[in-house]
Amino acid sequence: MQIADQTTSAVSLVQAALKKAHHFQETHHIFTFINDESALEKARAIDAKIAQGEPVGRLAGVPYALKDNFLSPEGETTASAHILTGFQSPITATAVQKLEAEGAIMIGRTNLDAFAHGSSTENSYYGPTQNSKDLERVAGGSSGGSAVAVALGIVPFATGTDTGGSIRQPASFNGVYGIKPTYGTISRYGVVAMASSTDCVGFFAREAADLDLLMEICAGQDSKDLTTLPDYYQTSSFKPGSHKIGIVKDFDNDAIDPEIRQALKTKVEELQSNGHEIVEFDMPTLKYALAAYYIIVPAEVSSNLSRHDGIRYGFRSQQSDSLGDLYYHTRDEGFMPENKRRIMIGSFVLSSGSYDAYYLKAAKARTLIINEYAAAFEKCDFILAPVSPNPAFKLGAKVNDPVSMYLEDVLSVPLNLAGLPGLTIPVGQTAAGLDLGLQLVGPRRSDRALIKFAETLKEKA
Ligand code: GLN
Repeated sequence: MQIADQTTSAVSLVQAALKKAHHFQETHHIFTFINDESALEKARAIDAKIAQGEPVGRLAGVPYALKDNFLSPEGETTASAHILTGFQSPITATAVQKLEAEGAIMIGRTNLDAFAHGSSTENSYYGPTQNSKDLERVAGGSSGGSAVAVALGIVPFATGTDTGGSIRQPASFNGVYGIKPTYGTISRYGVVAMASSTDCVGFFAREAADLDLLMEICAGQDSKDLTTLPDYYQTSSFKPGSHKIGIVKDFDNDAIDPEIRQALKTKVEELQSNGHEIVEFDMPTLKYALAAYYIIVPAEVSSNLSRHDGIRYGFRSQQSDSLGDLYYHTRDEGFMPENKRRIMIGSFVLSSGSYDAYYLKAAKARTLIINEYAAAFEKCDFILAPVSPNPAFKLGAKVNDPVSMYLEDVLSVPLNLAGLPGLTIPVGQTAAGLDLGLQLVGPRRSDRALIKFAETLKEKA
C-alpha cells in the first residue's frame, strides 16, 4: 500500500478511484458523497512532498472510503439518516485523524442503514446499496456501502462500524475481509453512537495483511474515549504452527443455509489437513444472545438518539409552532421506521415497570455469554463459525419484517455482547455465484493473532 517508490502517483491513484466510484455509483449506489475536490488536492500535496524528498506516511496517497457515520469536516456526516442531513461536522473522528495523518485520502462517504440500524443497508434514507455480485440482492449491513466499495475494487480499504455484525456480515456478503476488533481497540470518538457498549470501529480490505497495518495505525488509547485499551500490539502475538480451532456444534442446524454449512465443513477439513486440531463443543447460552442483544442495544440506542431534537444538528421540521411540536415533527420526519422502533423498544425496556424483567435479565444473559466464551477459549485458540444464516438475500425480502431481519444477526451478535474480536474471511461462492464468508473469533485482544492466522490460511488454500 505504498507509493513512495514513485512507480505511480497519489494523483493517478485517487483519480482512478474517483472514476470507479462515479462509475459504480450508477449501478450500486455506494456513496452518500464523493469527495472529488479535496481528495485530488490532498493527492497533489502528497506527490509534491514525495518529489521534494520529504517523508510521507505509511498510507500516503492510498484512497479509502469512509462509512458515513464517521465525523469529519469533509462532506456532510449524515449516518444515512434524514435527521442528520445538512450536518457539517466541526470535529474529526480519531480514527479518521490517524488514517489521514498517515496520508490516506478519503474519496467518498459510504451508505449505511440509518444510524447503523439494520443488516441490509435498506434502512438508509438514501435507498439501498446493491450487492457486488448481484444487483437484485442486498449488500448486507449496516456497512453495506463500504463492503461493496472494497469488493468492486474502488478502494483497497474502507472503514466500518460493528455493533452487532455490521462489518462481518456485509464482508461475507461481498467476498472481502472485515475485522471487528476487541471492544475498545480503536477510539469511538467522532463516530455516530449506536450502542456505546458494543460499538466498534473496524475495516474492510481485500487482503488480511492490510487489516493488520490499519489496526496498527488506528488502535490505541485516546483520552477522548475512556473505553479505549492501551498497546494493541503488545497484547497480541501470534505463534505460527498448529492451532486448536473450536467448532460450535449448535451452529450445525437446519436454520443455516446448506451451502454455508458445506463451506464450514470444507474449511474444517482443510484446517485438519494443514495440521490444525479441531475441537467441537456446545455453547448453549449463545441461543440467548439475539434476544439479549435486541434489548440491550435498543436501550442504548434510545438514549443515544435522544440528542437529535432539531435544535443542534442537521434537519429541522418546518411544520411546528411550539418547541414540543418542533421536537415531535423533527423526530417523526427525521428518523427511519427502524430507528423509531428501536427508540420505542429501548424506552420500554428501560422504563421502571419493565427494567427488571427485560433489561436486567438481558444484562445477566450477557454475563453468561461472556463466561461461556471464556470457558470456550480454555479449550481452543480460535472459534470458526458462520457469519450469517444465509448468503445475500433479495432486496425487499426482509425489510418489512423486522423479526426476520433481526434473525440475520443470530450468529454475529454474540461476540459483540462479549466484546470479542471477529474476522470475516472469504471462503468462496455459492453455486449461484454469491459470496460466502466465515468468521474467526478469538479471545479478547487476540486481534493481531486472528489476522495473522487468517493470512496463513490463505497461503495454504
Ligand atoms: N444488524 C445489527 C443491528 O441491526 C447490527 C448493526 C450494527 O452492527 N451496526 O443491530
